[in-house]
Amino acid sequence: MKILVINTGSSSLKYQLFEMNDKSVLATGLIERIGENIAKHKFSSVNLKESIVIEKPIPNHEIGFSEMDQLLTNSNDGVIKNSSEISAIGHRVVHGGETFTKPTIIDEDVIKAIESNVPLAPLHNPGNLSGIYAAKKFFTGVPNVAVFDTAFHQTMPEGNYRYAIPNEFYEKYKVRRYGFHGTSHQYVSKLVANFLNKPIESLNLITLHLGNGASVCSIQNGKSIDTSMGMTPLEGLIMGTRAGDLDPAIPFFMADHVKLSYKEIDTILNKQSGLKGISALNDMRDILAKKKEGDKSAKLAIEMYVKRIRKYIGAYLVGLDGKLDAIVFTAGIGENANEIRKLCTENLSSLGIEIDEDKNNSSSKQVREINNEKSKIKILVVPTNEELEIAEQTQEVIKRIKIFR
Ligand code: ADP
Repeated sequence: MKILVINTGSSSLKYQLFEMNDKSVLATGLIERIGENIAKHKFSSVNLKESIVIEKPIPNHEIGFSEMDQLLTNSNDGVIKNSSEISAIGHRVVHGGETFTKPTIIDEDVIKAIESNVPLAPLHNPGNLSGIYAAKKFFTGVPNVAVFDTAFHQTMPEGNYRYAIPNEFYEKYKVRRYGFHGTSHQYVSKLVANFLNKPIESLNLITLHLGNGASVCSIQNGKSIDTSMGMTPLEGLIMGTRAGDLDPAIPFFMADHVKLSYKEIDTILNKQSGLKGISALNDMRDILAKKKEGDKSAKLAIEMYVKRIRKYIGAYLVGLDGKLDAIVFTAGIGENANEIRKLCTENLSSLGIEIDEDKNNSSSKQVREINNEKSKIKILVVPTNEELEIAEQTQEVIKRIKIFR
């Protein structure tokens, strides 16, 4: 079975074609600047020695799909003969609101429900919808499945997802914590269950997804019970360019005193804050290198970044009544930055958390343990793969539908 995974933004289309028999990637592509003068299409596949880049105008997502289809089915080195070989398309959808608790086959009602969640994710859902409309038009007859970033967190108890503001904001406007990166937190928790050889239903984990965006998830008996991102991805950890937690009165101050517009404040908190706001850099590799050279703002950025993570580890450990099987590091920084992992977990032996420096310093693409033998709580590094998780969840939905038909 071949499954195409799609992740669309308002001007981008990212795709991967999976062969589900062995979970291998047959082809992968990224089209950027859709709708602008010249779009850039990068494509690689198992049949190509080197990736190719095509630059030409791509006015909309539907034409993007046509460009992708041409490369996938190219008679010389395509990976499929025609698109009828694609069994299903899995779409990443950022916000499922309270409507979606699991992956869902996309019909007209589901499209309407995703549209109704646009106010909750005005930057993401419209882009995701462009991909869904284009897929339905271009690949008629191929089933489409929506996999939501928020769905995994729908198991949070009300006491963890509500904000302490008047009830009507929740009841009328659905203002609450939703959480994101759900596919990643879910994927790594499944790999941890496998690695520890324990049923997922009996596992308590704190999973740290540390990429450009970053979030922590508290998992009790395999289910998300708390997470650091909130109604939007802005809350929680310090990220590449997002502030994370801050006094909610700061934006009022920026508006009233600094005289910034609502849009300017939004841009500052989402795009100019976080690691970038403190060190002027947002790539952790550059910040670590600067810190090594003795740069003070890089040092401060890392100190703040790590302190925020440690604050959440403490809070979630208590939220789990002290019963924790493992702390899990994943995504670009979590998988690769041994210095950050060390700083996040050092001096915690009184809590049963002890890292092994040699294990932490060795690199690998496999799931691995980096705690020492005395550590009661395991510390694990688990490479995430959100696209594969979307492909697997899509396959599950398709299989279920076939059984019921
Ligand atoms: P995204 O959220 O865009 O998917 P990634 O998960 O790829 O992001 O993570 C990107 C982050 O990972 C960047 O800050 C990058 O600097 C960091 N990163 C990647 N490799 C390393 C490394 N070897 N050491 C430190 N940081 C790294």
